[in-house]
Amino acid sequence: MIVDLPEKFSMEGVAVIENGILKIMRYIAFSDIMYELTYQMKGRNICGYCKKEKEKKKMTLDHMYPQDLGGPTITNNLLPCCKKCNRLKGNLTSKEFRKYSKKKQDKKAQYLKKVQRHQEKLKRNRKYHIPIDWIDERKVSDLILIWIPNYSDNRYKKEKKYYEETGLFKKLVIVDRNNKILSGALSYIVAKKMKLKTIPVISLENVELTV
Ligand SMILES: [Zn+2]
Repeated sequence: MIVDLPEKFSMEGVAVIENGILKIMRYIAFSDIMYELTYQMKGRNICGYCKKEKEKKKMTLDHMYPQDLGGPTITNNLLPCCKKCNRLKGNLTSKEFRKYSKKKQDKKAQYLKKVQRHQEKLKRNRKYHIPIDWIDERKVSDLILIWIPNYSDNRYKKEKKYYEETGLFKKLVIVDRNNKILSGALSYIVAKKMKLKTIPVISLENVELTV
């Protein structure tokens, strides 16, 4: 997939946009780069839901497809919003939240139940709640891990257990155009240790790790 990028961007010595490609030169949490890009493209102080202008400390970044349902931390999925709206939104997608907000008070609970049933159905069917064209399948052996994360054994076990129980990764692996891992290394390690042949990834065709 193509990640939303502005025309120009530069984080001194870390990342730069050249000819429409986001080039990452040295290690920094990928999410931090995505946060910066999102603010640059979508602003910092107007809530994407209630449209009110708020002071910085009352703002946050919302995952339009919630993280719990597989929503990745990429610009396409991030929206600056106020903490109040973020709290109200809970585990709804942005589309569901907009629908929910328009419902009359006596219909809200009913709508939430409907959404919950839908989410449970997706989980049962081992599906992530994100657009289908965001997900690619890669051979585990084709992925390249540049920075080996320092995870505790406990964290690894939790992640593995989650996968065994649900058939889903808690966090999808995000790779650049050359299959280098940008985020979600723990899921990759789980897949490797479990000897899975393939793994779902979010492949960003306009991002390149130059390390
Ligand atoms: Zn708001």
